[in-house]
Amino acid sequence: MKFQDATAAEINAVMDAAWEAFPTFRQTTLKQRAALMRRIAGEIEAEGDALIRTAMRETNLPEARLKNERARTQFQLTSYGEACEAGTWLDVRIDTAVADKGDPDLRKWLVPLGPVVVFGASNFPFAYSTAGGDTASALAAGCPVIVKAHPAHAETSEIVAQAIARAIKMEGLPTGVFAHVHGAGTETGKNLVMHPHTRAVGFTGSYGGGKALFDWAGQRKVPIPVFSEMGSINPIFILPGKLAASPKELVSTLAGSITLGVGQFCTNPGLIIGIEGKDLDLFIEELGVAIAAVPPATMLHPGIARAYTDKRGAALAEEDVSTIAVAATQPKPNQGVPTLASATAEAFFRNPLLHQEVFGPYSLIIQCKHPAEMLKVARQMEGQLTTTLMATDQDIRDHAELVQATQDICGRFILNGVPTGVRVALSMQHGGPFPATTDSRFTSVGADGIKRWARPLSYQNWPDHLLPEALRNKNPLKIWRTVNNVLTQAAI
Ligand code: NAP
Repeated sequence: MKFQDATAAEINAVMDAAWEAFPTFRQTTLKQRAALMRRIAGEIEAEGDALIRTAMRETNLPEARLKNERARTQFQLTSYGEACEAGTWLDVRIDTAVADKGDPDLRKWLVPLGPVVVFGASNFPFAYSTAGGDTASALAAGCPVIVKAHPAHAETSEIVAQAIARAIKMEGLPTGVFAHVHGAGTETGKNLVMHPHTRAVGFTGSYGGGKALFDWAGQRKVPIPVFSEMGSINPIFILPGKLAASPKELVSTLAGSITLGVGQFCTNPGLIIGIEGKDLDLFIEELGVAIAAVPPATMLHPGIARAYTDKRGAALAEEDVSTIAVAATQPKPNQGVPTLASATAEAFFRNPLLHQEVFGPYSLIIQCKHPAEMLKVARQMEGQLTTTLMATDQDIRDHAELVQATQDICGRFILNGVPTGVRVALSMQHGGPFPATTDSRFTSVGADGIKRWARPLSYQNWPDHLLPEALRNKNPLKIWRTVNNVLTQAAI
């Protein structure tokens, strides 16, 4: 199905509707927003297998994966709804007046920013797209949402958008609370970011896209926050004790993670760092055998397959890079070929291309001469969503500087596991220092992501009866609040 790109006039109309809906939507109670989010999850469920079949056709992703991802998306909606209702995210802080010091009464909470424009990624047609984490968290915050459909799964996006629109109608909310526009190309996205009613942007996708949006937002007359979640190479540092102790376990764990979903995850381990020696040689040989045994598979869309083939080709053509293993089976058109390559740490220091994401089933092993070189690799690395240490307790004790350097560059710090597989929970941090994201202080996964779409507002000396419910003495919403430096649900 072909969808028309939104014209500038259509974008104006949806932004005006969002702007008009904002005063009503922001006044909804936390319960009402949670009810809306549950309703959206239900309406997505009601689309049944037809939705899954459409997504399968558009993305080449298998049925089981898409069903899981849809369930995750529904869980995001309902669990962020529960978190919205619990109200802890409002971050209420109350300092009552101190008359003898002349200190005023201060009550701070978070208020919604306004209309949020959301761009989803092609590799998660549900969980990071139309009704994905950005949309769910922005609705929880009380912000209207305008989604720019990803052209690689525009029909899936359209079906989900209709489910959201139905839910909004059933809950008796203004239609402007949600809008969905199409646009293949940069113009639609730029118009949405530059629109004067847009108050924030959520993006999941490539570095090029996320950075372009961020730069446009900075050029606006009134700059706005852009939360771009971009690519990452998710380095795995293998420490010597662990390499000697469990080489087989490392090989099977890493081969599975590198090739999972044809490598099309932002948490794919694109770089493995080890220290030269017999143990590393054996590990590389066995990982090569495991990677060669994984057959190529069809990628999300021809554009992603082309980008993978080009970037993989460019990396392997570098003088610094040696090919260790390539899938033994010949690929068909649009298939990603599992590949393992290797380079020295010295090459990594001088060649910026080796730091870049090759989005697909590709990983590069960096061979260091000694622990000091491994530390230098960590210190030269850009911001990442995750870093992983494969280490024994003794390794951790012996490499304290590396342990510090590797956690300084990431948002999620993994020990003896793999970065693929992102748990949706309050304690998740999915976001790391630039260029992994444009603001490392926030997460795009877990209910803490709601805070991206709100700003603190402090009320000074307002009488109780004129305050919002969340800030009143009796605490009618029964939310957790920090009152005179004590976290409590009690009334004042
Ligand atoms: P993408 O090509 O950047 O597309 C994402 C969305 O942004 C699309 O709607 C796209 O529309 C739009 N877009 C891209 N460049 C733009 C520009 N310059 N101006 C305006 N709009 C633009 O990303 P993708 O290929 O779908 O996804 C793969 C990438 O996403 C990988 O790098 C992966 O690591 C990353 N990713 C990150 C996360 C995370 O949480 N950090 C999660 C999943 C994926 P058009 O196609 O119309 O340009």
